[in-house]
Amino acid sequence: MSLAEQGDGAGSRAAGTFESTAPASGAVVGVFPVQDAEDVRAAVDRARVAAAAWADLGFDGRRTRLAAYRGCLARRVHELADLVHRENGKPHADAILEITLTVDHLAWAGAHARKVLGPRRVRPGLLAANHAAWLEYQPLGVVGVIGPWNYPVFTPMGSIAYALAAGNAVVFKPSEHTPAVGVWLAEAWRAAVPDVPDALQVVTGLGDTGAALCRAGVGKLAFTGSAPTGRRVMAACAETLTPVLMELGGKDAMIVDDDADVAAAADAAVWGAMSNAGQTCIGIERVYATERVYDAFVAEVTERVRGLRPGTDDDAAYGPMTMAAQADVVRRHLDDAVASGGRIAVGGTVEGRVVAPTVLLEVPETSAAVREETFGPTLTITRVRDAEEALERTNANAHGLAGAVFSRSRARAMDLARRMRSGMTSVNSVLTFASVPALPFGGVGESGFGRIHGEDGLREFTRAKAITRQRVTLPVDLMSFTRPAAAADALARVMGLVHGRHR
Ligand code: NDP
Repeated sequence: MSLAEQGDGAGSRAAGTFESTAPASGAVVGVFPVQDAEDVRAAVDRARVAAAAWADLGFDGRRTRLAAYRGCLARRVHELADLVHRENGKPHADAILEITLTVDHLAWAGAHARKVLGPRRVRPGLLAANHAAWLEYQPLGVVGVIGPWNYPVFTPMGSIAYALAAGNAVVFKPSEHTPAVGVWLAEAWRAAVPDVPDALQVVTGLGDTGAALCRAGVGKLAFTGSAPTGRRVMAACAETLTPVLMELGGKDAMIVDDDADVAAAADAAVWGAMSNAGQTCIGIERVYATERVYDAFVAEVTERVRGLRPGTDDDAAYGPMTMAAQADVVRRHLDDAVASGGRIAVGGTVEGRVVAPTVLLEVPETSAAVREETFGPTLTITRVRDAEEALERTNANAHGLAGAVFSRSRARAMDLARRMRSGMTSVNSVLTFASVPALPFGGVGESGFGRIHGEDGLREFTRAKAITRQRVTLPVDLMSFTRPAAAADALARVMGLVHGRHR
């Protein structure tokens, strides 16, 4: 894709350009402008105009247009999946899964926005009994979205779909590693929603373009990426008191309890750890298996992992690392795990961008492979006394994005899931919460704050608006200098009758 072909309406005057390349071959996927602060501000200005038109459409008008957009994605799924495959490196089939999930979220957000955000009457309470009270959630105007490269469709659309459904326009800055996917998403919007084309725009560039978006006067900045960059984004947004949503990294754990279905747990752990080359924020990176099941679990996992083959063909289990630098992080974690006494049960090699599926055993909790986000196709498995020790170790990590529990006891599994320090937990599966549009998505601690998806995800991109309307006037108005002197005593007596009996 060339500069001229982009057609994102940005009208860029940018002097510089950058290339995105295919991780598999190094071939150039596209050339894009490095848009500067002025370009970004111009996009936000256009978005502000579009936001007014988009908000005026109301819930029904937006719902039909969001449906047209998802229809477009659904019809062109193979075209988009091919682009994701080329630019990100993941298998075509995984790209289709990612797009399917996105379409489902778009449908849910469009269908539920009115019910969740629309005006509703609330009880006025005793002191305002003569008033009607209304609550509604109004759009913020323009939402800035900064996204990563690992799920270049699903992850940013988790913010974009819900922000649009809530009545905002969006300016999206995709990762410099997946700009072509971002531009494709904006072009598809313009084609599907020609009457409000600027409600979704893309600005391309490097970190500075993202920083400019933070300072461009958006109503909220939704950031998905690493914690170090998240801190920089927060600092930039603090200059203008721009509120932020932080979807950051994870170090998700799976707990395998005494009574777990070990084969099912192993299968899920291998998918959770290795799919997408492990470049999944909610991927499983650590397993804590109880003494009773540890040996059987390790045997099941290693057998499955031996059957996996990374590569660039259609039959490969996963592709090369999208970013060359990420392969270096994985290598450092493997070296540290081994140097600190861990053992490689399978894999352990990093050749260029291709990391072999790797299982590490007996790695100390202090090692980077257990403490820090690896973001590669690796898994540590640690033997623990029981599920309580597993939970203790799970919760000792600074991250708290998601996790999984495997147990045949429903009550026990639910109890462990509730006490896991994370925003999301799957019982007897991995990652499932992300595919349930009604469930909120987000983390705690180093994994960030705020929520996308579900009702909370819609409200995240709004401000609550409270309105009261006086229905009848009362003979005595307590909030008036005309009130009689005895009014306060009468009020105190009523309060005593209503609340005073509670001890
Ligand atoms: P980064 O933090 O490196 O980058 C994220 C985005 O921020 C990119 O678009 C990047 O642009 C941009 N950026 C870089 N510097 C700045 C800056 N100073 N101001 C504003 N924006 C900036 O993350 P990655 O792209 O490497 O993504 C991987 C990380 O994302 C992992 O930690 C992963 O766990 C996390 N993640 C979290 C998810 C969640 O929902 N919690 C989901 C998916 C991923 P550029 O690429 O051009 O530098």
